[in-house]
Amino acid sequence: MRANPSDLAVRVRGLRKVYGDLNAVDGIDLDIARGETFALLGPNGAGKSTTVEILEGYRHRTGGEVSVLGVDPAHARLDWKARLGIVLQSTGESGQYTVREQLSHFARFYPNPRKVGEVIAAVGLERQANTRIGKLSGGQQRRVDVALAIVGRPELLFLDEPTTGFDPEARHEFWGLIEELKSEGTTILLTTHYLDEAARLGDRGGVIVGGRLIAVGRIDELGGAEARIPLVRWYDEAGVRREERTERPAERVVELARQLGEPRELEVIRPSLEDVYLGLVHAAGSPSPAPESAKEEEPA
Ligand code: ADP
Repeated sequence: MRANPSDLAVRVRGLRKVYGDLNAVDGIDLDIARGETFALLGPNGAGKSTTVEILEGYRHRTGGEVSVLGVDPAHARLDWKARLGIVLQSTGESGQYTVREQLSHFARFYPNPRKVGEVIAAVGLERQANTRIGKLSGGQQRRVDVALAIVGRPELLFLDEPTTGFDPEARHEFWGLIEELKSEGTTILLTTHYLDEAARLGDRGGVIVGGRLIAVGRIDELGGAEARIPLVRWYDEAGVRREERTERPAERVVELARQLGEPRELEVIRPSLEDVYLGLVHAAGSPSPAPESAKEEEPA
């Protein structure tokens, strides 16, 4: 990665977290460049939340070096916290205030907040600005969570499973919002179980299994070239399903057409991030890849 540490929003070396006799985080090295969106992937219990909460300053680490926006979160002060935006899995907001009231209230905590009206427009809640948060739909409440996280103009935004429970349309709209934040230069650390979300939003990503980062790199290169070789699949004359991995799928299809005419259910499949991810997690020996249920949170 980049040599100049000032280009880095996050720099982690040899991070470890031990709970009793469990190595929950077992020697992670991680760099996130400024302006980058990094997707942290991994099955439940892999150590994602522990890692992220250490970066956010909510958990103590057992060992290793951590620098977030140039500061060690273990010794950070309030002015550092004001440079972060954090969207937790659920807010627990009481919902008795309107969107505008809540945002105006929180904006006061920051030295250089965005204008509340601009934030409301950015998250697409103009029509709900004067509605009590408790009356909003789940997707709209999530937008309030994001609005609260960005009102302080954060340099680094933590998004923890931001679209869990969204319908497909709300998810696509939400992605549009995040892409705007990206284009403004916000650094984003995204944890998600939705691999399409990681593929759409992430510049780089990493897969954690058993407290170790087993793969890290550009999202479209994760797992290496080998994991991304296309698959040609068809049924032969005997009705037997055949498949072959080949770098030259078009050539193979032409050959098949010559041999078989129009092979039944011919497909050329390019491994998606999900396929690559499942391959990595299985190879690492994890029993439960990418369940989509919410996980239990335990206090530090
Ligand atoms: P993920 O976010 O990837 O699901 P976590 O970081 O929440 O993983 O958990 C990693 C491991 O550490 C799991 O085995 C989990 O049970 C354990 N763990 C997390 N928090 C605590 C805690 N406060 N006390 C004991 N064990 C914990």
